[in-house]
Amino acid sequence: MFCPKCGEENPNNAEFCAACGANIGRSSEMIESSNKDIQDTETSGSIID
Ligand SMILES: [Zn+2]
Repeated sequence: MFCPKCGEENPNNAEFCAACGANIGRSSEMIESSNKDIQDTETSGSIID
């Protein structure tokens, strides 16, 4: 993956950029967002049913 801050290429599993030290690890915020989408879908299904 490329650092969004400086553009340096880093391993996909890197948590911090090797060049500038920016945090490029996987964000838990993104995971929470995905779970929310799944819950919304299930809720919609219940309403339709
Ligand atoms: Zn960087």
